[in-house]
This record gives sequence, structure tokens and C-alpha cells, in this order.
Amino acid sequence: MAKALWPGILSCVCAGASLAAAVTLVLPLPSTTAKTSLSSIFSPTPADLQSQIEHDLTGIQLAVRRVATAALNATKTVTIKAGDTLSDVLQGSGIDRSVTLDVVEAIKQVYNPRRLQSGQDLTLNFIDDPKTEDRQLDELTFELSPGESVAVARTDDGTYNARKIMAETHREMTRYDGTISSSLSAAAGEAGVPQKILNAMVNMFSFDVDFQRDIQKGDSFSVMFEQVVTKDGRVVSTEGIRVASMTLSGSPLKLYSFKHSDGFVDFYNEKGEGVRKALLRTPINGARLTSGFGMRQHPILGYSKMHQGIDFGAPTGTPVFAAGDGVIEKREVFGGYGNYVRVRHSSGYATAYAHLSRFGQNIQVGKRVRQEQIIGYVGTTGRSTGPHLHYEILRDNRQVNPMKVKFPSSLKLKGTTLARFKEIRSIADRQYAELIQSSRVAMMMPSEETSALR
Ligand SMILES: [Zn+2]
Repeated sequence: MAKALWPGILSCVCAGASLAAAVTLVLPLPSTTAKTSLSSIFSPTPADLQSQIEHDLTGIQLAVRRVATAALNATKTVTIKAGDTLSDVLQGSGIDRSVTLDVVEAIKQVYNPRRLQSGQDLTLNFIDDPKTEDRQLDELTFELSPGESVAVARTDDGTYNARKIMAETHREMTRYDGTISSSLSAAAGEAGVPQKILNAMVNMFSFDVDFQRDIQKGDSFSVMFEQVVTKDGRVVSTEGIRVASMTLSGSPLKLYSFKHSDGFVDFYNEKGEGVRKALLRTPINGARLTSGFGMRQHPILGYSKMHQGIDFGAPTGTPVFAAGDGVIEKREVFGGYGNYVRVRHSSGYATAYAHLSRFGQNIQVGKRVRQEQIIGYVGTTGRSTGPHLHYEILRDNRQVNPMKVKFPSSLKLKGTTLARFKEIRSIADRQYAELIQSSRVAMMMPSEETSALR
């Protein structure tokens, strides 16, 4: 019979879908034996199957007829191994060559099967034709990312059709808290804060917090942000931070996101004062301050020399951001500085970036840059002992200490914008208070009541 072509299917099928198929095999056995073997393999046994098995031998005819009128399903999960193509896997699962070709062709309409990686699970659903007993691939599904999958289904005319399926999702708030023992990134990692959120936190606090020096053991953080999740609670994407707070040496600093009417999102303290300063003290993410501003023994020249900037150790290729809005003044190979960019800002300030491995896109003399735009990448060009960013802030053409310089005052919200901010802030505060550590809450729109929270 046709099933002989499908060795191994029954041994690894998933329990629920294969029960009906299993019945046909166990029916000839005395009912007690059948029950024992079934319940030991498939547990719990559904009631309808149970009653079917409990027919004594005189009832077998009836049972067989009942089974034969319904199409039988079997589901199998296979995992792609290193070096396997999709065709290999399908044919290895007993699907014949022509069906395999049809299925692969169908998938190509929505997804490049070459992008499937080893370790990827494929769920195969087979259906047995009640008349011919032929086993056909009815459906093939695989997940691309949480909430996104590809499904290939057999149509009535025997061809295959593929489509991408997006799972139903909803937005919810989530909050993480942590106590710092060594660094913010270590504590955030321990608490399970996504990397993207950690980076955003470092950016929003970098105007007020010197992450190299201000962080003490026992300091704490808390962050609330929005996520898109599937019905079964898996995270599809992480959206922006709503509230983040850091308590350093006992003094809290709580920041709120606020979206301006032009769509630009920025962060403000409780009074509606913008955290964004004219210039960033740290124009790079995740770097270590390796050398401060001032007199030091020069690592290459050997004698004491004034260090006119600060050095951040980071791997070659790490993006370097413009510290503030401005105009590119220099972009060239500049002696011992190697690949060098200088940006002119307002109020007589300029910032300079040296030893870059390469320049950012569209970084040309005379061009405008926005704060946090990539101006280049960490390297070790010029007089340098290893990959790092040498960063300078200049005031009226003289280098100043980036860690000490007082920047021009920040933006403060006023009038109706401030009123709108206060409304957003009180909603955020309420949600923040409702949420305990690592918990989630369904999205609440501004018009809804607190009772909408679960
Ligand atoms: Zn330096």
C-alpha cells in the first residue's frame, strides 16, 4: 500500500494529528492491548478515539468504515541541517521530486529558499486520500521570525501556492528594572533589556550622565517601552522608550519621550526641559574611554605631551556620530590625525574626529550634518597604536575638555506644547507605576481609563 513509501512518518509524527492514522494500524489488535499501547505513546487519548478503540471485534468493521471515509492527516516537523537545501529536506521526508519542485517554485514567489538556514524547522502536513490511500503533502509551513511565516498549501488542482502570513499582533508596554553592580550594560543585559533599548537609553542619558565616571555600584535603572507582540506573547518588534529613569548615588533622573507635531521624538525631564544638548560628550556607542584630556605620556613619542582630546577604544568599523548639528569644515587625511573630520557648530563650537578607518556617506566639506548622523567609522589611521576614536571639542578654535565643557542651554517646552507634554507624562507615569518589573500591560490610548489596564 501507499504508506510503505513513507517510512518513518509515523514514528516522528506529532501526536494530535496522527491519531487517526494510528488507529488503522492498531485496530486488528484486541482492544485492551490497543488501549495500552496507544495511551503509552499518545497521552492523553481523545475521548472519541477511546470509544472507537473500545469496540470489540464485532465492531471493527464499522470502525474501519468510519475511519476510511475521513481523510487522514499526519504532521511532521523536520529541521534543516547544515549543507541541506530545501529540496534535500523535502525529498528526504519522502516527498517525490515533482512535488518538491512545485513546492520550491511556489516558495520562490514569496521567499528566497536559499536564505533558509540550518536549524530552521519546517512543518509538513500530509493528507491521505481515502480512496487511493496516496499520501500527499497538504501544507508546508515555516517561521521566518516571530509573527511572520510562510505557508505553502496544496490547491484542489494539485498545484502548490505559497503566501506569507503575518500573525495577529498587538502593542503592549513593558518595563524592566535593574540594579547596577558593574556597568549599565551588564545590568541591563542581566535584566533582559533588548540591546536596541539599552543603546537608546545610553543615548538619552549621555547628555547628563558620564557613563565612565558617574556610575556607582548600587545605582539603578528602570525603563518602560512599547513592544509589538504576538497572541502567544512573542516579541515581534521593540518600539521606542516611553520612560526611563536612572538613580545615581541616590538622585533620580527620569526622562520621558515626547513626539513633536513634526514627528520628531525627543526626551525631556519632568519639567519639560529637553535633554538634548548642542553637543554629545560621547559621539560613539559602547566604547570605553581609554585616555582622558590633559597631560600624559605619549604612547608613541614617549615624552609628556598635552592630550588635546579624549580617546574611546572601540573595534574598527564602529560608527562615529556627529556630536551636534553643524557643517563639515574638514574631511581629509590630516597628518598624525589620519582620516579626520571636523564639524563646525553654532556658538563658536567645533568637534573633530580622528584616526577614522573611513568616512561616512555624504560626508563632504560644506555639507550639513544632523546630530547623531554617522560621520565616519573607528579606525587606526595616522599616528595611532590601535583602533580608537580621538575626539576633540573646540571652542573658538581651542581644544577644551569634552567631559567638563558646559554646553549651551537646552530646549524647554512652552505653552500648548508643554501642556501636551504634561498630559503624555501623566499617562506614562500611570502606566509606569502600574507595571512591575518585567511585566507587560496592554496598550492604553490617552482617551481610555486606567481600568483598561490588566
Ligand atoms: Zn587621542
